[in-house]
Amino acid sequence: MSALPPIRPDLRLSDGYHSPQVEAEVRLNTNESPFHPPDAWRRELLDALAEVSFHRYPDRPATELRAAIAALHGVTADEVFCANGSNEVLQCLLLAYGGPQRRAVVFEPTYALHSHISRVTGTDVVQGSRDDHFRIDPADAAALLAAEQPDVTFLCSPNNPTGQSEPRATVLVVLDAAPGLVVVDEAYGQFSSWSALELRGTAHPGLVVTRTFSKTWAMAGARLGYLVADPAVVQACEAVVLPYHLSAQTQLAGLLALRHTADMEARVALISEERGRVAAALGELSVESWPSDANFILFRPTSKNADEVWRSLLVHSVLIRNCAGWEGLPGCLRVTIGRPDENDRFLTALKESL
Ligand code: PMP
Repeated sequence: MSALPPIRPDLRLSDGYHSPQVEAEVRLNTNESPFHPPDAWRRELLDALAEVSFHRYPDRPATELRAAIAALHGVTADEVFCANGSNEVLQCLLLAYGGPQRRAVVFEPTYALHSHISRVTGTDVVQGSRDDHFRIDPADAAALLAAEQPDVTFLCSPNNPTGQSEPRATVLVVLDAAPGLVVVDEAYGQFSSWSALELRGTAHPGLVVTRTFSKTWAMAGARLGYLVADPAVVQACEAVVLPYHLSAQTQLAGLLALRHTADMEARVALISEERGRVAAALGELSVESWPSDANFILFRPTSKNADEVWRSLLVHSVLIRNCAGWEGLPGCLRVTIGRPDENDRFLTALKESL
């Protein structure tokens, strides 16, 4: 008689990565865009969907979408790989370049999925650290990379959940010291003043930059992300990804979104302005907060327990991210920048909660 088999023992310790999906009127916990995509995009998508041959598999290499993304970044289509969110891009990279007897380096605290997907794919994880200001020390990083010789090194710029971009000098040191791939996760790249895409070229064939439509493009529900890298990396990802993984509707959603770059840039400008306003308001309260180049701010209440503040905000129907239990982030909370009215609700509730 067949019995329910045990799962892989090495997966037992990992609980996955979840943001509690609690009901709240103001949801500032998952760094999504607070704005809808443009109405014109919605209409164009609905019209285009009416023409899709749904009885056929979608275009497997996502030819048009990749060409459009390549044009956006001034690269060629064979340097672009698309998947269902940048998380699937990361998974493909780790399936191709990680795995048993292979190693990934992450600098904690950083985006939890880098180590989580590494472990799920059987890749060993080595944790580097950051200083008290959540910065990577370039000399420490170079020493760690020389000692560990990782197959994949993850950077996150701007870094989730701490908020700041990695300086160009740090990325260059890591590129020189890392023997394998250097993945710069730029999920929040459009909010930053510089992009590692500027470093692309023959001097750094192992550089991979990942991006997503989930944040600035206001399309988290569509699930679309991509990487820009050497064509060999793109081919490696194509070798491990499931056939026809990117649906016809996802490809269309992305392709049509790229016609609305100006709207996306306007949203980034508005959110950046609001970020300045929220940061200034936090400066007036009894919290410590860190500078942000992204659409969220990390802060730590100094007069009250963070769990209590998080719960109290929820009583005001404001949901933010509780990072207090995360390694290296004691007492920290992270708030996504929302619409001006949502930010007002958050600030008012925070004042009362403190
Ligand atoms: N990278 C970072 C740094 C993120 O914060 C996120 C979303 N939380 C992702 C990647 C994944 O985004 P998606 O899969 O929606 O593209």
